[in-house]
This record gives sequence, C-alpha cells and structure tokens, in this order.
Amino acid sequence: MENVAENCLHLRGLGAVPGSRFQCPVCNVYLDLEGVEQWVWAAEKSRDEAYSVVESDEFVQILCEEWQQEVYRRRKVLYELRNVPHVAIARPEMILISYDIAEEAYECRIFYKEPRPVWGTDRIRVEAALDAVLALRSHPDPNVRLASSKAEEFHNLRLRLVEQNTPPPSRRVFYQNEF
Ligand SMILES: [Zn+2]
Repeated sequence: MENVAENCLHLRGLGAVPGSRFQCPVCNVYLDLEGVEQWVWAAEKSRDEAYSVVESDEFVQILCEEWQQEVYRRRKVLYELRNVPHVAIARPEMILISYDIAEEAYECRIFYKEPRPVWGTDRIRVEAALDAVLALRSHPDPNVRLASSKAEEFHNLRLRLVEQNTPPPSRRVFYQNEF
C-alpha cells in the first residue's frame, strides 16, 4: 500500500474530501493543499534536473518535454483544488446499517436532508469484524467516522444476541437523535 502511494503519479487527479483534504482515487493517499504544492514542486525539480543535463541528446529532450507536461498537469490540478469552495460538512439525517451475510460485511448508507451535499459520502462497506470497523475511526470524513461508530454499535448488538442464541437483526436504522 505504501509503495503504491509512493510511486503513484495520481494520474486521475485528486478529489476533494471534507476537511480541506484531497484524495487520489487510485492510491487513496490523502494530501492537504501544502502536500499538493509539494507534489507540483517535485515535478518542477525533476524537470529542472532533466534540463540541466549538459550532454543533451534526443532522449534527454523527450524527458524534458515529458516533465514539462507533468508540471503543467500537476499545476492544473493544484489550481482547480485551490478553487474548490470550503463547504461545511453536512450532518446526516439517518444512517442505515445492513448486514450482508454472503460477504460478511456491513453496508452503511448515509442519508442527508435535501439538497444532498456535494461532498457527502453516502455509502460505505466494511468487513463485519471489529478491527475493520474500528479502523474507520481515523477516517478524515467525520460522517464516515459517525457511520463506523454506529456500525460498531450494531456489530456489538449482533454479537450479544448471537451469544444469547437469539437471531440478530440484519439491519438497523439510526436517526439523528442517536448520533
Ligand atoms: Zn495516487
């Protein structure tokens, strides 16, 4: 995972996630605006190094051009992200957690009051195991963290009922007054 993030060029750009952060959809790394600036500088540095090669041949020239294109591409991503408005994080209205028996996973659906916020995560899936659920506690999106705490509650309830030989429910709705 770390290696993917290290080597990834974020070729599909970076998407805004709540908390003024940006995520690569390929390697899933999170960057703040400073991180994106450093990513642009890294390309500028590589380009300058390519240009500073004394014995320039055709290969070096192609390399220079490629890095120049990469600099332009990264700058464009940076300029677009600078213009993303800082939208307040919307609070969900309701969270529905369903247990998927076939895949042993929880499907969490997050519902918002209309209009639906642009950045609102509306669906997450997590393995039906406590450590997988708890791992979402450090997620940058507060609504994902909220959904994970409800998944944890649901998971504990199911375990308790199984221990008591009672069939556990396969879904549970949490309303705003339970958040
Ligand atoms: Zn990436």
